[in-house]
Amino acid sequence: MRWFELLGWGFELIIALGSILFIATSLKERALRAGLVGLAILGALNGVIVFLLLYLEEGRKGGIIILDAVFILLAISLLTPIGKKLPLRVVGKITRVDERDIPFSRIRYEIGSPIYEQYYARHPEAKGIYDRIRLLPGLAAPGTPTYSPLGAPLSHAQFDFLEELADLVDVPPHTNRVEVDTQCMSASLKETIKYLGAKLIGITELNQDYVYTHIGRRPGKYGQKVELTHKYAIIFAVEMDYKMIRAAPNLPVIIETGKQYIEAARIALVIANYIRRLGYPARAHIDANYQSMLPPVAADAGLGEIGRNNILITRPYGARVRLGLVTTDLPLVPDKPILFGVQDFCQRCRKCADNCPSKAISPDKKKVIRGIEKWEFDPEKCFAYWNSVGTDCALCIHTCPFSKPDNLLHRAIRYAIDKSVVARQLSVWMDDLFYGRTPRSEAYPTFINLLKKEV
Ligand code: SF4
Ligand code: SF4
Repeated sequence: MRWFELLGWGFELIIALGSILFIATSLKERALRAGLVGLAILGALNGVIVFLLLYLEEGRKGGIIILDAVFILLAISLLTPIGKKLPLRVVGKITRVDERDIPFSRIRYEIGSPIYEQYYARHPEAKGIYDRIRLLPGLAAPGTPTYSPLGAPLSHAQFDFLEELADLVDVPPHTNRVEVDTQCMSASLKETIKYLGAKLIGITELNQDYVYTHIGRRPGKYGQKVELTHKYAIIFAVEMDYKMIRAAPNLPVIIETGKQYIEAARIALVIANYIRRLGYPARAHIDANYQSMLPPVAADAGLGEIGRNNILITRPYGARVRLGLVTTDLPLVPDKPILFGVQDFCQRCRKCADNCPSKAISPDKKKVIRGIEKWEFDPEKCFAYWNSVGTDCALCIHTCPFSKPDNLLHRAIRYAIDKSVVARQLSVWMDDLFYGRTPRSEAYPTFINLLKKEV
C-alpha cells in the first residue's frame, strides 16, 4: 500500500474510533437523541469515506491525495490555535453591589415593616415588581407545578440547616500563630480542599470591587456596612449531579442545589476553622451568608469564565457547579485567570437565552454593566420564574453545552473549543444537531420519583 493510501486509511480509523466513542458515550449518558443521530450521521460519514477510499484505490491516486489534504486541513483547523479568546472586559469603574438590592434580600422585606417602608422609599422602581413576586407561591411551595408534599419539605430542611450554620462563619482566630511557607501552604490547602470533596480550587487576591457594600440578608445585621479586609480568597467548586440537573426545572434541581450548598458550606467552614487554628483570621462565605459575590472571584482565581448566563462556566463541568469561598489573611500564592474560549463560544451559542423560560438572559450583544462589558441579565425575571415554578429552574445550566459530563469525549471537544474558533463554531452547530436546540427535561432519578408519590 502506498503512503497516501495508508494515510487515508489512518484518518478513517481515527474517525471511526471517534464515532464509536461518541455513540457509546451518548448511550452511556442516556443521551438517546445524540446516540441515534450519531449512529445515522457518523455511520453514513464513515460509509462514504470507506467507499471513496476503495473507489479511489482503483488507480485514481490524485483523489486519495486530495482526501488526505482535506483530513489534514480539518485536523489543523480544529486542533491548532486559530482565533482570539477574549476575557470579559472591564471598561470603567466597577460599581459595588449592595446585598440589600439582590432578589433574595428584597423578597424578605415584609409588607408594612419598617425595613419594607424604608427600602422601597429609596427604591420605588423595585416595589411593584417585588409586590407581584410576593403573590407567587414561592420556592418548594404548594401551588407550584413542581410541588410534592414529600419532596418540598426535604428542600426546606436543607436550607433550614444552612441557616443554622450562620454563627460559625466568622469567629476569632487562635492566638498561637503557626509560621507557614506560602508556596507549601497554598499547595497543601488545595489538596486538603480536594480531599474534602471540592473538584476545582483556586486562590486570588480578594478584589474589593466584588465585596458587597452592605449586608442584606442577615437578620440583626441588616444594613451594616461590609468590612471584609482579608487579602486572599480561597474559592472552590463542588460538582452538581448531571442526572439531577437534566431534570430541570423539576424538583431534583432544588434538592441538588440544597445538597451542594451544604457541601460547599461544610468545606468552607472546616477550612476557615482550620486556618483560624493556625492563628490567621478567616471567614467562610456560605449560602445566605456571603459578603462577596462569588462568580467573579472564581473567575479571578482561574476556576472558569463568566458565560452569557452570568454564572461561572468551568472547563470540566461547565455551569454545573456550586461555589464556596473562604477569605483570609493567611499568606498564599494567587492563581491566574484562565481563558478557554467561553466568551467567543457564548457569542455564537445563545442556547441558555433561547431556553430561558423567563427571558432573563439576553440573546443580544454585550453591554457595559457596572463597568464590565457583559451580557445583560434580569434577576427579577429569573426570580419571578423560580417563585412560580417552585424550584431554582436551572434550565440555563442544563442546556449549556459546557455542562456535559467530564469524560474523554467531552474533554476532547473542550480541548478543540479552547484551541480554535473553527471548533467553537462547529461545536455550536453539532451540539444543536446531536442534542437538540431545546434539550428536553429527562426522567427523574429513582429516589426523587419516590418523593413525588402522594402521601
Ligand atoms: S434559572 Fe431559569 S429562569 Fe433563571 S436565568 Fe436560568 S433559565 Fe432563566
Ligand atoms: S448555553 Fe451557550 S451561550 Fe449560554 S452560557 Fe452556555 S455556552 Fe454560553
